[in-house]
Amino acid sequence: MMKSIQQALVAAALCLAATSWVQAETIVNVLDRSQRMRLEAMHPADTATPQALKISASFDKVMQHMPPSHAVELRIVRGVGLAEAMQGHIVAVHESVGDLPETVQLFILAHELGHIAHSHWSQMGLLFLKWVPGEVVPQNTNAVSSQLGRDASALTYNMEFEADAFAMGVLRRMGYTLDDVTSVFACLGMYRDSPTHPSSFKRIVALRALWSRDVPSSPSSSSS
Ligand SMILES: [Zn+2]
Repeated sequence: MMKSIQQALVAAALCLAATSWVQAETIVNVLDRSQRMRLEAMHPADTATPQALKISASFDKVMQHMPPSHAVELRIVRGVGLAEAMQGHIVAVHESVGDLPETVQLFILAHELGHIAHSHWSQMGLLFLKWVPGEVVPQNTNAVSSQLGRDASALTYNMEFEADAFAMGVLRRMGYTLDDVTSVFACLGMYRDSPTHPSSFKRIVALRALWSRDVPSSPSSSSS
């Protein structure tokens, strides 16, 4: 669910970092380039279809219930899992998301916007830079790739929980209940832990704990 920035990023960057043809590049260059290539490979969908119009409407609703943020671009595409936050300011959404129930659409979009609002793209870049501060060449990457992979995986888990919490805050401000929010996971299919995503069960448990701890806040206050 919600294949996010980090999923492809970790795999692509580690793969690219292991190749010797990437000369005189920093790891941040490599990450940027890999995301640019993935974006370019996505085919824009027709924005006038009923599916696309529903996604756009859901996106606008979420934006109205978010804390003010910098400019964010919505791209409705073919060729991405369900949705993905990219390059720190783009939400790429598969057109089929428009066929999902509105609550699910809202949660998916709010989750990806949560990645953007929390600057997860920059955070991941900083982590990679910490482990690979110099040029991306095998002598700088081979020795650290396993530790980097471990740290990146841990960071992505935190980011997923943070983006979920953000999405839940948005939906709560819209008047949705905890059951509405957690039913999103059942709708999308429960799954186990992966290298980049905690299991649906862990995510639901985290949201339930957060719901009882937090009170709804206005969009202008800090994120949930
Ligand atoms: Zn995510």
